Amino acid sequence: MSQGKAVIFCAPSGAGKTTIVQQLVKRIPELRFSISATTRSKRNYEEHGKDYYFLTKDQFDQKLEEDELFEWQEVYTGTFYGTLKSEVEKIWDQGFHVIFDIDVVGGVNLKKRLGDRALAIFVNAESVEVLRERLTNRNTETPESLEKRIGKAVEEMAYAPKFDYELVNRVLADAVDEAENLVKDFIK
Ligand code: 5GP
Repeated sequence: MSQGKAVIFCAPSGAGKTTIVQQLVKRIPELRFSISATTRSKRNYEEHGKDYYFLTKDQFDQKLEEDELFEWQEVYTGTFYGTLKSEVEKIWDQGFHVIFDIDVVGGVNLKKRLGDRALAIFVNAESVEVLRERLTNRNTETPESLEKRIGKAVEEMAYAPKFDYELVNRVLADAVDEAENLVKDFIK
């Protein structure tokens, strides 16, 4: 078994997790992003095999049956996401540490499985009001879907104490620096 470690990033929607993870992959050469499998449709800026492995529900079910997923969740009703065992093994075999961008429930499960081998970071917004403001300004939501996301975010925030570290994203550049320090310290 190689000695690769795992860094898990989770957050309520709108907290800035994805940007932080992308920056960390650029700044820390020992890290490799774990590309998940998903049944959601590809957005036009995304690439199969880079952002996700886009699978049909049948293909996803087959991975499940063949026990090829490390963890999985139905993050949105009818939309499934899962971490492939082969992806994580490949990264560790190549001598890298793996970084995950997954939902909070999947993150808590992974941390339980990996124990001290993993650092689980919960990226949070300062408050529900700030989150609401960000999601509103993003202009991608209808009033109904905004309320749904806020509702889910409030539920997700309750998971923060289950993580090793809560990183409050007040100013993005500072949050990225703080995340970089935490991760470098953990993998050194
Ligand atoms: P999106 O569809 O916006 O890319 O992702 C939706 C949510 O699914 C995000 O919170 C993302 O972190 C989460 N997610 C992505 N991949 C996985 C995975 O492999 N497992 C779990 N549990 N969640 C995932």
